[in-house]
Amino acid sequence: MKFIDKAKIHVKAGDGGNGCVAFRREKFVRMGGPSGGNGGKGGDIIIQADSSLKTLMDFKYKKHFKAERGQHGSGSNKHGRSGRDLILKVPVGTVIKDTETGKIIADLVKDGQSVVVAKGGKGGKGNAAFKTSTNQSPDYAEEGQVGEEKWIELELKLLADIGIIGFPNAGKSTLISILSHAKPKIADYPFTTLTPVLGVLQFDYGKSVVLADIPGLIEGASEGAGLGHEFLRHIERTKALLHLIDISDFREREPIDAFITINNELAKYSPKLLEKPQIVVGNKIDMLSDRSEIDKLKEYFEKEGYSFIPVSLVTKEGIDQLIGKIAELYEKYLNKSSQPV
Ligand code: GDP
Ligand code: MG
Repeated sequence: MKFIDKAKIHVKAGDGGNGCVAFRREKFVRMGGPSGGNGGKGGDIIIQADSSLKTLMDFKYKKHFKAERGQHGSGSNKHGRSGRDLILKVPVGTVIKDTETGKIIADLVKDGQSVVVAKGGKGGKGNAAFKTSTNQSPDYAEEGQVGEEKWIELELKLLADIGIIGFPNAGKSTLISILSHAKPKIADYPFTTLTPVLGVLQFDYGKSVVLADIPGLIEGASEGAGLGHEFLRHIERTKALLHLIDISDFREREPIDAFITINNELAKYSPKLLEKPQIVVGNKIDMLSDRSEIDKLKEYFEKEGYSFIPVSLVTKEGIDQLIGKIAELYEKYLNKSSQPV
């Protein structure tokens, strides 16, 4: 499975039609009033996200896209027809960049979301439009404007279904490496993982979920401290969250405090993030001397409305239950072209 898909294409919007110079012909009138119609507007090039598409394959071979031009105006005040817009469909998650300036034109994250990437030229006014009280018979008209054209780059960023969140050292990198074939860097100190690592969990024939290890979520992240904001943006795109907490005897923080702190950070950035389904995974139970801790935490989280799954990523205890829970989540929320909440 390939996570990044790119294409470079040239788009040319339609030119505007020219305005027309014409005069009415009437019986007994040598030269009637001006009657040249306006030119039509050129078609725009629009890019639209479509959740039924999964790749940018369509743009691998065809590189040039042109929208229809506007028709010229004509006599008897006939306006030229506008050119039809050309709508190019891309998968949800496509980022569009202007090749020349390098600027991001749009980041299409929702089904149906669209953006005009090249504007059609305006139609020119015909001479009838220039008639005034002081100039009863103008004999000039405007030309249509040229439609915009540019090279643009499309890049498909795969959207993760589930974001793995938690303090540094909770075991996020380890979890993603166990559940998927991705091989992230694993180390014993904070801030090792600087970009989200994606992994694919295949739990049944033809069924899979994309997981993202979202590191760097620490207190202050919602105020843009460090790399926090960047990561919160990734979380925004996921459909569900897996909240990993260290519940070993050697944990750095009280598990419930750690959980609340992270969720407060999410809420400060956007309260909507807490509406995403979230499962809580208590990790490192192999390092727990008193197993009754597990029941206490389970009781707390279930009272709060979360499922709680105790695991050890070292002994693999609880992993099957966790995969079962993710499968449940998949059936409920992910197995649709539904969009992130
Ligand atoms: P991250 O910062 O959340 O990505 O955490 P890592 O996956 O890098 O794990 C931090 C440390 O915890 C590493 O040394 C792991 O080997 C260790 N670790 C992860 N899961 C477990 C577990 O279930 N039991 C124990 N004993 N150690 C674990
Ligand atoms: Mg990590």
